[in-house]
Amino acid sequence: MTSTVAPSTSAATGGPSLPQERRLVTEVPGPRSRALLERKAAAVAAGVGIAVPVAVVAAGGGVVVDADGNSLVDLGSGIAVTSVGNAHPRVVEAVQQQVAAFTHTCFTIAAYDGYVEVAEALNRLTPGDHAKKTALFNSGAEAVENAVKIARKHTGKQAVVVFDHAYHGRTNLTMALTAKNQPYKNGFGPFAPEVYRVPMSYPYRDGGLSGAEAAKRAITQIEKQVGAENTAAVLIEPIQGEGGFVVPAPGFLAALSAWATANDVVFIADEVQTGFARTGAMFASEHEGIVPDLVTTAKGMAGGMPLSAVTGRAEIMDSAHVGGLGGTYGGNPVACAAALAAIDAFEHDGLVERAAAIGDLLLGRLRAAQAEDPRIGDVRGRGAMVAVELVDPATGEPDAALTGRVVKYAYEHGVIALTAGTYGNVLRFLPPLAIDDALLGEGLDVVLEGLAAA
Ligand SMILES: *Cc1c(COP(=O)(O)O)cnc(C)c1O
Repeated sequence: MTSTVAPSTSAATGGPSLPQERRLVTEVPGPRSRALLERKAAAVAAGVGIAVPVAVVAAGGGVVVDADGNSLVDLGSGIAVTSVGNAHPRVVEAVQQQVAAFTHTCFTIAAYDGYVEVAEALNRLTPGDHAKKTALFNSGAEAVENAVKIARKHTGKQAVVVFDHAYHGRTNLTMALTAKNQPYKNGFGPFAPEVYRVPMSYPYRDGGLSGAEAAKRAITQIEKQVGAENTAAVLIEPIQGEGGFVVPAPGFLAALSAWATANDVVFIADEVQTGFARTGAMFASEHEGIVPDLVTTAKGMAGGMPLSAVTGRAEIMDSAHVGGLGGTYGGNPVACAAALAAIDAFEHDGLVERAAAIGDLLLGRLRAAQAEDPRIGDVRGRGAMVAVELVDPATGEPDAALTGRVVKYAYEHGVIALTAGTYGNVLRFLPPLAIDDALLGEGLDVVLEGLAAA
């Protein structure tokens, strides 16, 4: 049997044993990648876009290898998913054992150990030492939808408050919760009702409001336009992901959380992107000392397998009736096995500390670059979740075109870098925590070369 995208290198398997190097043997995209992209264009719906035009055949540690034999430095982790490293050996082994034992029962038909063990781990690891319970799902959007269902059932109220620049997913309810029209919502309405958007704390763009001032602005808007007596939940990313790695001013999250508690409003932290060591803490809520009522998790949790969760106060989680939560695949045994292996790595392989060290390296280098280049308007983030905002130095206006040119330069020179932000002008860095310093530094060199060239 022949394939138009057979690997041309010996890299048939991934994992950390792949040579940890940037290696270009063709232009990017090379001929085999281009062949796949042509088939993709003919066979796959146009709405499913591709940011980096390569056909992947293997990945591991800090590299992604394409069908032409190019080895790209991975500064994106498939959007903060392969934090433990792609094809992590313990994840692979756990998946192989589970897949050979049984692949599915539907947990709501017949139970198995892995689901309960993931729930126990999440109850133990998420912020706060109160009694907690967990329910598992497949995607981040599904976790967010279920957190809203649970908050509504618990409070008997309907309104959900979300923030400017928020991203919570692409299903109907989560489109309504997400701020940005293009590309996430445009033409896909009508959207779910009873969703209210209030201003975020965005230190670079809100004139430097303090956390307390920004919280007062948001709370006043909730009280005047929605009413606490109608509000089921305040839903927020502790550091915004797709919105551009916006880190709210200190005290903002704590003030909102205190207001929610005082008003019988469920405070939901969407830690789908920030969770599992990514920010140099197991959960980003910890940096601000907040204890959310509910936490949603997904991306980094299961080493690349699809799994998500809602974890929170037992009395809130238990407010949904039997049969009200679930789904055919939620908490699939293979995904749970992967999560248990990944969680073991997060806890015991020093990955929280590693994320913090990656953050020091990234922030140090990028702040030094900012001092030389006025197009770098802002450098921000925590741990291995760091971004720069590129602007026109004369006007301070967001420069999305420049950002796009840097990303293109990067992949053409063997580095996967991602964009983000309401204005499309944020370059974001989400390297696997398994990347080594040399490769991370080289990846960053290429991105900064791209900025110099653009
Ligand atoms: C990615 C993301 C989601 C949606 O997750 P999917 O698995 O893509 O549905 C929700 N919230 C946040 C904060 C995210 O980053």
